[in-house]
Amino acid sequence: MRVDLHLHSTASDGVYSPAEVVQIALTNQLDVIALTDHDTVSGIRPAQAAAATTGLQVLAGVELSSEDEHTDRHVLGYLIDVDHAPLQALLSELRDSRTNRAARMVQKLADLGIPISMERVLALADDGAVGRPHVARALVEGGYVSSIQEAFDQYLANDGPAYVPHYRLEPQRAISMIHAAGGVAVLAHPGHYEDYRAVIAALVPLGLDGIEVYYPDHTPAVVEDLTVLARQYRLVMTVGSDFHRREGDGSARIGSVRTPPDANIVEALRERARTYQSTA
Ligand SMILES: [Zn+2]
Ligand SMILES: [Zn+2]
Repeated sequence: MRVDLHLHSTASDGVYSPAEVVQIALTNQLDVIALTDHDTVSGIRPAQAAAATTGLQVLAGVELSSEDEHTDRHVLGYLIDVDHAPLQALLSELRDSRTNRAARMVQKLADLGIPISMERVLALADDGAVGRPHVARALVEGGYVSSIQEAFDQYLANDGPAYVPHYRLEPQRAISMIHAAGGVAVLAHPGHYEDYRAVIAALVPLGLDGIEVYYPDHTPAVVEDLTVLARQYRLVMTVGSDFHRREGDGSARIGSVRTPPDANIVEALRERARTYQSTA
């Protein structure tokens, strides 16, 4: 079974619509995917509709950026009820704060003598969760930098002159909200955190259910280490490519991350979710 549980669409900062993501998943012969857009579940139903008669399963998902001290901790929520009102309220609060943050970055750039338009930034976000990549694209379009990378390096990186920190969602609140919506909370790309052992140890008592063990940037040593931690803490091990767009050579990394043949990821997630759904 081919599974990829970490995909972005135009509902947030991916470049393909939910229906196009489904098409790419079908082309790559996947069996199960989860759409995990930042701070929104608006792509789930369109993706499920596009997959309806194809045999491809589309699980409901979301990626929440929580913040611990000053570091991002991305938490994935799976099998959530997309109509859960408190979750919807939190997501719209997060999106509003993203819009405010983007406006403040645009203002800082204006103060630096770089007049990009907020309307253009929002248009580039295409009604999805607006963020730094959209400000970066507006900078490229305006000819102020030659690449997205340069936009980050010169202006938007965490220590850059136009950086604005985002709204702080505590990991505890992210995890609790996912559980309240009947879902399972999984730490995204643990390998991105230098101190991932400490991060996982801190999140387990808060109710963390799983970790994304299989991920493009994870070396075999990291995968092995995470596997040991998952067993130790009884965490579900998930797989995700974090697909946003095609690579330079046109390939799509949807489904590119391999898992052991005996990995029972989707069943393990469903089993874990039942513990939250039975109490709802
Ligand atoms: Zn992430
Ligand atoms: Zn992601």
